[in-house]
Amino acid sequence: MRALVAVPGWEAVCFAAPVVRTFPTARLGTMASPVAHLGPDLCVPGADVDACLDRMEQLGLDDISLAEVLLDQRVANGVGNVYKSEVCWARGVDPATPLRAVSREQRRELIETSARLLQANLGSGPRATVAGGLAVYGRRNRPCRRCGSPIRSTRQGDQARVTYWCPTCQPPPARPPVL
Ligand SMILES: [Zn+2]
Repeated sequence: MRALVAVPGWEAVCFAAPVVRTFPTARLGTMASPVAHLGPDLCVPGADVDACLDRMEQLGLDDISLAEVLLDQRVANGVGNVYKSEVCWARGVDPATPLRAVSREQRRELIETSARLLQANLGSGPRATVAGGLAVYGRRNRPCRRCGSPIRSTRQGDQARVTYWCPTCQPPPARPPVL
């Protein structure tokens, strides 16, 4: 065991952390806090969605894929690799779409869907985003639960994290005409 976080009624144990850093709690809430850069916590009901959208713009992520933007904890806190794929499928958007091709309203729907799926899975038990489990994550070559097309997967981003999507339900954005 590398780290143990204990509060009344719960203990969280971590075995595989390569590095464990600790900070005095007196610094939480200050700019010196190790979590000061994080976006709103989507696991908390009523998270500030507008703040997430503002952060997407302020961080200059226009050329970054949606899959990577959703994982960026500076934008919003909580979405991990599983939910990244599930949220894009739920909204019918290609996870490789650059942020610049996504309207503010679509961005809002993606964040609100992320919050809804995260909050629905806070308890113990297997994660489920659709009846029967997950929609696309871990389902490479299996039929899409909406249209039956084989689910595809690829690796995206600097950390080459795997992304799953349905090529039929989540088509790439239309390319602007070449003049
Ligand atoms: Zn589909």
